[in-house]
Amino acid sequence: MSALPLISSIELPSGKKYEQPLGLFINNEFVTPFSTENPEYLTSVNPSTGLPITQLYCASPKDVDVAVKAANDAMKTWKFVDPTEKVNLLLKLADLVDEHKEILTAIEALDSGKPFFSNASADVGSVADYLRYCAGWADKLHGKQIPINSKTMAITKRVPLIVGCIVPWNYPLSMASWKFCPALAAGCTIVMKSSEITPLSLLYFANLVKLAGFPPGVFNVLSGYGKDVGSAISSHLGLGKVAFTGSTLTGKKVMADAANSNLKSVSLECGGKSPLIVFEDAELDECVKWASFGVMYNTGQNCTANSRILVDEKIYDKFLEKFINQIKEDWKLGDVFSESTTMGPVVSQAQYDRVSSYLKIGVEEGATLIQPLKDQTPLTGYYISPSIFTNVKEDMRIVKEEIFGPVVTISKFSTEKQAIEMANDTIYGLAAMIFTTNFERANRVADLVDAGSLYLNSSNNEDTKVPFGGMKMSGIGRELGEEAFNLYTVVKSIYYTYGAKF
Ligand code: NAD
Repeated sequence: MSALPLISSIELPSGKKYEQPLGLFINNEFVTPFSTENPEYLTSVNPSTGLPITQLYCASPKDVDVAVKAANDAMKTWKFVDPTEKVNLLLKLADLVDEHKEILTAIEALDSGKPFFSNASADVGSVADYLRYCAGWADKLHGKQIPINSKTMAITKRVPLIVGCIVPWNYPLSMASWKFCPALAAGCTIVMKSSEITPLSLLYFANLVKLAGFPPGVFNVLSGYGKDVGSAISSHLGLGKVAFTGSTLTGKKVMADAANSNLKSVSLECGGKSPLIVFEDAELDECVKWASFGVMYNTGQNCTANSRILVDEKIYDKFLEKFINQIKEDWKLGDVFSESTTMGPVVSQAQYDRVSSYLKIGVEEGATLIQPLKDQTPLTGYYISPSIFTNVKEDMRIVKEEIFGPVVTISKFSTEKQAIEMANDTIYGLAAMIFTTNFERANRVADLVDAGSLYLNSSNNEDTKVPFGGMKMSGIGRELGEEAFNLYTVVKSIYYTYGAKF
């Protein structure tokens, strides 16, 4: 196979061309992998067509060593850069993301199948916003002064870590930004691994990091597989932390690798199977809008998707009718570059097969499958029609397991107590949604449902100013908000003793 270039010109559906980096990004340069004799390549595939977009270089564990060394070397000077300068760099980077928004949005649409107008554009906008939010913190992160007695006091300092980040494909750039924004603001250096399924946008973004003026080695990006490159990051002795987003199964491996290597700090944002509870007194017209958005947005590939709807049996039929109508109104499958499209394909052949298999399993388990938009589902590409299962039992696999596609189950309950039990009957605890006009009930149920984020009368309208993370097997640690900075720094205590005799 002939060698790939490090940058290739790619034509977008609009006819415009852009320069796509294909190399690994280490020390502010796009480079070929360490093993140049027989390099491995990744192929990025357009899920709307199933056709390849481009090949690109794939890292190996040896490249993790090179990138970790770059991050360690960079820390020697980066830690002395003034916080004010870090603020300016982050703000400059946010401006560059805005300037390159059209291309970044197109890359996300092409590589991950997100509708350009109704979805990918918001993702990229959120990256610029979060950079600015974290820029605001970069010169306000400090320790404490703790008086001990008249001759001794202590201060605490927040020490930034050298961080490995491993991210998934469902929000390729935006999920990465939940890590790199607070990490950069906190003064960390970073080795980031993109998902092997959606590697393109992070490489393009890496070039913006360089253009913004960040020093070499502060931000490094490796494209590669999880089993070798991901695991080399989790177990690397040169990293003080690994921040992971992905499935619970992989999260356990990351934690085991971190424990078995150097006990590095670990944060995990993992899977979910979030319940949306509809009480008898809910405002149904509002509720079905949130419920439809909360489970089908991003083709259901959302860790906080409200994929289990629990409805009071007294209003079940009314809810179901309204919900089906809302699905018909909200979702239009088709060309992701068309302004009218609101639902794209799932991300890959593997994800298509996985979601399709659950549709089969649900029917075999005895549930009823309703697909109100079956007729308009494109036949090429990895499109899956919004799918609603009724007549479900709580022990069915479609109710228990995370499907991660446009699939929702709807169950009935008869009492508040039963609704809470059903909501908590899961290994996950990422989010829960509660619809009621009774304020007291909303608060009572929110306290009793085990989830990191509770949405009362809404769904999936999270904000980067608010901490986010899971309970139970949905993860460890809180991203976003002020909490995020605790993930990327460790506290050092320094005692000052002036004149105290031993
Ligand atoms: P995944 O676990 O398959 O992969 C996630 C990342 O881990 C990828 O970069 C992958 O290459 C890497 N990886 C795979 N094996 C690894 C290993 N042994 N060691 C280290 N890294 C490894 O998940 P996915 O399919 O990319 O994403 C979907 C999952 O992510 C869903 O379960 C979803 O709920 C979860 N998710 C959670 C959140 C959250 O904030 N809680 C957000 C988005 C997605």
